[in-house]
Amino acid sequence: MPALSVRGVFKSFGSGAVLADIDLTVAEGEIVSLLGPSGCGKSTLLRVVAGLERADRGTVQIGSRDVSSLPPGARNVAMVFQSLALYPHLTGRQNIALPLRARRLTRLQRMLGPLRLSPSVRSIEREIDGAVDDIAGRLDIQGVIDRVPARLSGGQRQRVAIGRALVRDSRLLLLDEPVSSLDAKVRAQARDEIVQIQRAFGVACVFVTHDQGEALAISDRVAVMLGGRVAQFGTPAEIYRDPVSLAVARFVGTPTINVLDGTADASGRVLAGGFVFDVRLDTTAGQKVSVAVRPENVRIAAGHDDSRPLLRVVRIEDHGHDGLVHLAGRDGGEALLVARAGRALAFRPGDEVRAAISADDALYFSEDGSRLVGLPVSMAAYARG
Ligand code: ADP
Ligand code: MG
Repeated sequence: MPALSVRGVFKSFGSGAVLADIDLTVAEGEIVSLLGPSGCGKSTLLRVVAGLERADRGTVQIGSRDVSSLPPGARNVAMVFQSLALYPHLTGRQNIALPLRARRLTRLQRMLGPLRLSPSVRSIEREIDGAVDDIAGRLDIQGVIDRVPARLSGGQRQRVAIGRALVRDSRLLLLDEPVSSLDAKVRAQARDEIVQIQRAFGVACVFVTHDQGEALAISDRVAVMLGGRVAQFGTPAEIYRDPVSLAVARFVGTPTINVLDGTADASGRVLAGGFVFDVRLDTTAGQKVSVAVRPENVRIAAGHDDSRPLLRVVRIEDHGHDGLVHLAGRDGGEALLVARAGRALAFRPGDEVRAAISADDALYFSEDGSRLVGLPVSMAAYARG
């Protein structure tokens, strides 16, 4: 039984559809990312799961319960927003205790304050304190929990926000771009910390991000959302190596995947950018084919092998541990290919080099962007001889 199943969800706000035919499952203890550009519907989907928006059609099931028509409070989900949304005038302890107090005490009891508590209220308060201490211990923030948010570090604030979300024993944690507002270095730390906490609590998690590197780094599975649809749902390796469409291939990976305009010949081989890709695609002669190649799959060959196209180095990016070599046609002009190279500095702008791409390292797409799968008949991109 998955922790979350979303089936056939549609949602529009008046005009066009914001979500169309969304299917998604999250297994117990799994972390699934919703990855897509801004405006593709990630937050709306998360809000539909949380019950903050009602879907026009489709169902949301949490564990064995169909919660489609339940209000947020009855769904037992925990949500953390990008802003963390801690109350600045309350201590960490008071922030974490909020959802428990809201559930267990009446409005009047909460307002009366600690001085005039009845014995029964006092015992509920003690239980809440115990639950907060317990979660603070598990999050390792016992020492700072009585401070207000302004006196906590960013990481501690994040833990308080997650503590507040998890204190009700929710089985599903929803995170909407929780670290997007942070600087790159702190961001990586903060997201790794979230994964550690998620693993430690064993709670199923949906993590929204527009950052493909982040999604690939932390997820068990990634749902790539484009234009209100789940374009692909798979493991990070599947999404990266086996994209179902050119749009997914282009959205994932830095630098962006190389795309060469090509044409199929009568036997289903593809000619593109001076390379011959020796595959057997189910294409007709003359059919347009886009050939997509990750930068790490472009090899720069120093030799004089005439079977490899001669290209010109137009720019070098040295990243220290490796680098990128931007390659154009012999006449220069716009870069045709970017190659990742361990020793990018071995090259200079203006150098003429030969490049090789293995046919089975390339991905082939038809004009409508759908994937063409063929049988590679040799490891070499260029016809031998
Ligand atoms: P994301 O989180 O992927 O950036 P959102 O889910 O926030 O995208 O928004 C998806 C689309 O729905 C956007 O075009 C946005 O303008 C629109 N949208 C979101 N919420 C509302 C709303 N309450 N009313 C009208 N349009 C909305
Ligand atoms: Mg959003």
